[in-house]
Amino acid sequence: MTLHVDVDRLMNRIDELGRIGAVLGPNGERGCARLALTDADRAGRDLVVAWMRDLGLVVEIDEIGNVFATRPGTEPDLAPVMTGSHIDTVPTGGRFDGNLGVLAGLEAVETLLAAGVETRRGVTVAFFTDEEGARFPPDMLGSLVYVGGLPLEEALDIAAVDDGARVGDELQRIGYAGARPVGALFPHAFVELHIEQGPILEDEGVTIGVVEGVQGISWTELILTGRSAHAGTTPMRLRRDPLLAASRIVDGVRAIADEIGGDQVATVGRFEPHPNLVNVVAQSVTLTIDLRNTDETVLQEAERRFADLVGAVCAGEGVTAERRTLARFEPVEFDPSMVDRVEAAARALGHSTRRMASGAGHDAQMLARVCPTAMIFTPSIDGLSHNIAEDTHPADVAAGADTLLHVLLACANS
Ligand SMILES: [Zn+2]
Repeated sequence: MTLHVDVDRLMNRIDELGRIGAVLGPNGERGCARLALTDADRAGRDLVVAWMRDLGLVVEIDEIGNVFATRPGTEPDLAPVMTGSHIDTVPTGGRFDGNLGVLAGLEAVETLLAAGVETRRGVTVAFFTDEEGARFPPDMLGSLVYVGGLPLEEALDIAAVDDGARVGDELQRIGYAGARPVGALFPHAFVELHIEQGPILEDEGVTIGVVEGVQGISWTELILTGRSAHAGTTPMRLRRDPLLAASRIVDGVRAIADEIGGDQVATVGRFEPHPNLVNVVAQSVTLTIDLRNTDETVLQEAERRFADLVGAVCAGEGVTAERRTLARFEPVEFDPSMVDRVEAAARALGHSTRRMASGAGHDAQMLARVCPTAMIFTPSIDGLSHNIAEDTHPADVAAGADTLLHVLLACANS
């Protein structure tokens, strides 16, 4: 008989956790605001840890506040299999982002316990500190420190963007400055269930996204400077207009994505002329360019074309360009055998699958540095996330959690 999770129990926990820091919308939306290491985050953590202890799991907290709850395996010398995600949210977040992965992990363990199914390896359910980075940049802070990507002391000294409080002090204040050294124990394998946060699965009518990796990201801030001038008295031939140059760059950035094709995406997200007045040729324009691809070579090609575009446009309009790299991450490829395992588990349960890349960052990409890793996506209604209207159908939650359960079982017995 195939094991299945209890989806009602899982949905009830998602709802109960979602009531902490709830943000209610005018049309019945039930969103969430639990920024990292705030009182709301503490209340959310306390609730999830209480559930972990109720199941008899061994709960450990590390020095950056990551929480690990383990159901031991029959062979205690073997490294456990880990699943998990995050329970912090952005200020206008939903109930599912991150929370689904943690609570589905808990549900998978409870299902094993209820069925009396033992595994060779232990199964650990984790939640990582400050995945969103909304209060303490950078994002994925807890998992980054856990895998050794940022020294603990540096992380503890990061100041909050809202009130200036330090990570280390806030961890002490909310009671989550743990004793377990960061990186003390890496798992045998890691798998994270997460909502897609985009529209592809829903659009194609597919239930399970088999995530092969995470897109590489290249963020640039561009400041174009021309010459501020009177809109009535300055002849066109004597203008050096940074707004015109910026507009040509917006157009050209879209053309780069169209020409490269495939899954290349390119976005101008910020666009600020100075001054921003009806009768003045702008002095400068600040804009940001976000380029993403799953292939590092192609991403570099997009960056090259973007540099050429800026050079040509600025020369044509007599405008100067100052550029600053805001973020640059190479694409992450998940372990092929783990990816196969996710696909096989989903199909064995009768779910439709689609291989895809993640367009957003996740704790799993950090864990991929230290152990074989993969991710499972479930559809997001209307592709919405980081939005209080974020939602996922219970049937899709069940499909994702069942897939997680069976990936964990396969890994824990290997
Ligand atoms: Zn998330």
